[in-house]
Amino acid sequence: FEVIGAPIFDDRNMLKGGILVLYDITELKKLERMRKDFVANVSHELKTPITSIRGFSETLLEEDINDKDTARHFLSIINEESKRLQMLIQDLLTLSRLEKEDSQVRLSKVNLIKIIEEVIQVLNIHLEQKEIAFKVNVPKELIFMAELTSVKQIMINLLENAIHYTPKGGEVRIHAVDEEEFIHIIVKDTGIGIPAESLSRIFERFYRVDKARSRNTGGTGLGLAIVKHIVELHQGKIEVESEVDVGTTFHIYFPK
Ligand code: ADP
Repeated sequence: FEVIGAPIFDDRNMLKGGILVLYDITELKKLERMRKDFVANVSHELKTPITSIRGFSETLLEEDINDKDTARHFLSIINEESKRLQMLIQDLLTLSRLEKEDSQVRLSKVNLIKIIEEVIQVLNIHLEQKEIAFKVNVPKELIFMAELTSVKQIMINLLENAIHYTPKGGEVRIHAVDEEEFIHIIVKDTGIGIPAESLSRIFERFYRVDKARSRNTGGTGLGLAIVKHIVELHQGKIEVESEVDVGTTFHIYFPK
């Protein structure tokens, strides 16, 4: 609480009482803390790959490394870490664009199945590598008003996660239904699942269920924050249900 007080005097200048105003600044403090946490998180996420790039490149420059394989190994780490930085910066820019106060969606007619086909061309290699069965049950004629690039981004982020967090030989399904008020899109996997205590936090920026594992295996920790933002800009909603070692299902509702 922030407290502001002042005495009250009567006609003869005698103290009559006082006024005390209590401002509830919980929300303000919370926002301020979130902002500070975000800056600290971004700095940390940027620092980790940069430290590694510097370390390996300096070793390559300063030491006489004759072994070609070792040199190549160092170079591949530098390459991976710079890709990581690029992904992170890309996601940060996307988030900042979405967060602009005057950020508006440019609606056009979106054909979901077309988007899925495009996205799968990019992700197919991962599906094949992990021998994941991919099943789509989306009516061809399903068209709704939304921002094309945003819907694509949502599908990429959800499908990347579904593939990433599903062990070899699993299954990923997309299902879409034209409901009365909403277009309901369901992305379901048979992956590792999310523990109940983490479910409410996965849409937070940089929140990861298993910090060490997720960071090592690639994601930026911003994917779902971006998805939620986009859905909300469309006045839609997103829900998740999950069971550890059984799988995860995301539901997205776009208003018609
Ligand atoms: P990341 O880049 O780490 O995947 P996201 O914002 O996309 O970041 O997701 C946040 C966290 O939610 C992930 O680190 C992971 O722990 C969990 N998660 C997201 N999608 C799934 C999924 N389909 N199955 C299991 N866990 C998931």
